[in-house]
Formats: sequence, structure tokens, C-alpha cells
Amino acid sequence: MSKDKSEYLINRKDNQYEVVIGLEVHAQVTSESKLFSTSSTKFGAEPNTQVSLVDAALPGMLPVINEFCVKQAIKTGIGLKAKINKRSVFDRKNYFYADLPQGYQISQFKDPIVGEGKVILDMPDGQKEVGIERLHLEQDAGKSIHDLDPKNTFVDLNRSGVALMEIVSKPDLRSPDEVNAYVKKLRSIMRYLGTCDGNMQEGSLRADVNVSVRKKGTKEFGTRCEIKNVNSIKFMQMAIEYEANRQVDLIEDGHSIDQETRLFDTKKNETRSMRSKEDAHDYRYFPDPDLLPLEVSDDFIEKLKSEIPELPDEKKKRFIEKFKLSPYEATILVSDNETSNYFENVIKKSDVKLATNWIIGELFAALNEKNLEIIESPISAGNLSKLINLIKDGTISGKIAKTVFEHMMEGDKDPKKIVEEKGLKQESDPKALEALIDKVIDDNREKATEYKSGKVKLFGFFVGQVMKVSGGKANPQLVNKILKKKL
Ligand code: ADP
Ligand code: MG
Repeated sequence: MSKDKSEYLINRKDNQYEVVIGLEVHAQVTSESKLFSTSSTKFGAEPNTQVSLVDAALPGMLPVINEFCVKQAIKTGIGLKAKINKRSVFDRKNYFYADLPQGYQISQFKDPIVGEGKVILDMPDGQKEVGIERLHLEQDAGKSIHDLDPKNTFVDLNRSGVALMEIVSKPDLRSPDEVNAYVKKLRSIMRYLGTCDGNMQEGSLRADVNVSVRKKGTKEFGTRCEIKNVNSIKFMQMAIEYEANRQVDLIEDGHSIDQETRLFDTKKNETRSMRSKEDAHDYRYFPDPDLLPLEVSDDFIEKLKSEIPELPDEKKKRFIEKFKLSPYEATILVSDNETSNYFENVIKKSDVKLATNWIIGELFAALNEKNLEIIESPISAGNLSKLINLIKDGTISGKIAKTVFEHMMEGDKDPKKIVEEKGLKQESDPKALEALIDKVIDDNREKATEYKSGKVKLFGFFVGQVMKVSGGKANPQLVNKILKKKL
């Protein structure tokens, strides 16, 4: 039953199966302190330096809800166009693990703070809506460290008690590409809202990936496996491909799928069984007697609604309508707040079409090459708009602009100064151009005669020669005009 791992389900020619995916995303709430204690949440601190008595679960310690985290969860719910539940309940989810000193995690089970919502995906062939089942607040656990010592496991409780939002999707996703778009969109919405930084390297965003397969056209879903705690989009996609194939192989060989919890081994690129799937009753959920049900008023929710910024979907719509961008361009430019701010700053003082092309083309490529984010861009929005204006008013050609751009990437310099210092100004003086052109025609007498006797293709040759002699600085439109006249 061994199959070549590169033989992906998605690429199978006789592909009669469909993969069904639902994600449980764990998003760390952006907050200075933890969900039920005042300890810091700062990433990267020395182990066990951000642990209060509550986080260490000393007997008698009482949790106190952090209002800011509640606000963050509600804002996220609003961003997901979801129902906000005015009454929610914190439950204890009981299990034993070395990095869980309480012996239970405070979570929300039957009554989560946020109910059903939706996320819109921008796929190449159009938009797709993915349902959100719920969003609930819960504590993160500590971290077991297995690789510092051959015999011992260490426990770091800094993360213990940090607020997480678990965002559960409906089983609406159908491919690794949709999962990619979904996680990116979710992250983008939360970054706009400032409710989760989405930093996957630091573990601020990770997901349990539920995968099942079924014959195309079937109504019922197949049995799912849940792949735990995947912390990069690439790994999610690889895990889904592997897992879907594994399930198809089993079904094709006449076996059934066991509902189980699996791990994705990123080195071997395969999923492995961890344990059979636990059910809710295994956790003995019950309302935490230390915490009252959480009730929020309409005013409280309305106030938060009024603080919600323009989100990516709305911004995209505005960019398309107001600036006449294509859906593709708009999707790219709204993908994060920094990019859209940069774009809007550039176009305050320059041409929209040119700005769009320069940002999506040149700037993104250059930043990518240097591995920089847009907020780290050596070229400020103001200077990029100056560069665009130099092209627009004919001071430099588009080609020369690329040279100026390269100089600007080296440090934040005023493009006008670069043009002056390097003598890159476009030659637009008709007299000077005429002199150049006369010389080129003179040097190429024979070709000029051929041209005049009908070999019009030679026109391009003359343009090229003039540009070459001018060091690329001749104004192409003028060159064309004068050449036509002279030839
Ligand atoms: P649990 O805690 O048992 O995993 P949840 O309700 O929190 O249950 O999450 C279940 C997740 O599994 C949801 O994201 C849901 O969309 C997804 N899911 C449910 N059924 C299937 C299925 N047949 N195939 C794939 N995903 C599924
Ligand atoms: Mg689950």
C-alpha cells in the first residue's frame, strides 16, 4: 500500500475524491497581560520569568478576567461578521499534562463569546465564503522543552495563561490553496484589528487541521482526522496533501478511516497517529466555579463596533471603485494595513496607475530580494511619489527611473537629487535631440536610404541608435516625432 509521496491527490488524473477541511485556528490575543492574571505576555523572555501565582496554579489563587482580552475577542468577532454572544461561560477542560499545572485549561465550551460568522476568500476564479462556527477564549498552556537535555524535560510556564482565541471554521475548505487563502485572510483581518499579530514563527497563530475525503458528488462527509498544532501555512498544505492521500489509499484498499488525532512530522513529510480522537465528554467540561458567566451589554458591543477600522474587504471595494484598480491589484494592496497605508500615501501626490505598478512590481520585488517588510522599505512613500512625478512630467524615462529606483533602494534619497547628481535627466530639448538625430542619420546613410525606399522596419533601428548615443536619456516620444520628420 506504499505510495510515492509526491503523488498528490490534487494531481491524480483519475481524481474521483474531494478533500474536506475544517480549521481550528489558535490565535494569540494581542494584549500586554494574560487572560486571568497580570503577568506579561512578552515573547522571548527567560523561561519562567513571567509566571504569576495564578499561572503556576498555586492552590487558592483566583482568576480575574482581563477586560482588554474580552474586547479583543469581540472585535475579532465583529471583523468576522459574526454573532456576538452577550452571555458566555468559562468552562474547565480537564486533562493532565506536565505543562498544565492547573490540571485543566479554562476555555469556553457550550457558550462561546462569538457565534457564527464568515470569511471571504479571494481565489483566482472568484470569491468564496467560508463559514465560521464559533470563536471562544481560552488559556494557553505552558511549554515542555524536550531538546535541552537527553534525559529530562523542562517546563517553561511563560506562556501558561496567555489568552488565545480559538476560531473554528465550518468544514467548508476544499483544497490546500483555499486553506492558504483562509489563514492569510484571517490573519489580515486580525492584523487590521490589532487583535492578533499573526506571527507564526513565534507561535501566535497555529492551527489544528481537520481532514476527510469523500467521493465527489457524495452528500455525507467522510470520517475526519485532526492534525494537531501545525504552525506554518506551508506545513498545513503539506499535511493536508499527505493526509488526503493516506485516506484515499485506505478507502481504495477497502479499509475505513479511524477518527484520530495525528501529528505532522515536518522532517519526514508525513502524518502519524498520536492518539484516538478524544470526545468532549473525555474532558469532563464543567463551568469554572471561580468565574461568573461573562455578560456584556449592547452599549459595550456598540462602542467596540465604533472602534473597528476599515477592514480588507471594504478597503478592497473602495480601492476598486475610487482608484479603478483591478480586483487583483486591490487584493494585493489591501493584504495588510502597512501596504495599503503606503499605497495611499504614495498616491496622495502622484498618479494612481503608475504608483500601483511601481509598488506591486519594482518595490515588492526589491523588498523581497532584501527580505524586508514594507514598513522597513528604504524608499519612503513620499520619495516614491516624487520618483513617479519625475516620470509623469517627462524629467526621466521609465527606463532611467529604474536606475534611480536602484539608487533609492540603497538609502532614502530624494530622487530629484539622484537625477541631478548622476546627470540622468531626460533630454527633451528638441534642438539637442535634432543634433543627435542628424548625427545618427549621417552615420547610417545607407540604412536611411533603405528606409526611405520603403524598408520601414528600420525605424526601430534608428530609435535604438539615438537612445544608445544619448545614454538612454533621450525622451522617446520626442525622438520618435523628430525621427519621423527627418527620415
Ligand atoms: P473538536 O474539538 O472535537 O475538534 P470542534 O468543533 O472544535 O471539534 O472542531 C471540529 C473541526 O473539524 C471544525 O473546524 C470542523 O469544520 C471540522 N470538521 C468537522 N467535520 C469534518 C469532516 N468530516 N471533515 C473535515 N473537517 C471536519
Ligand atoms: Mg479539535
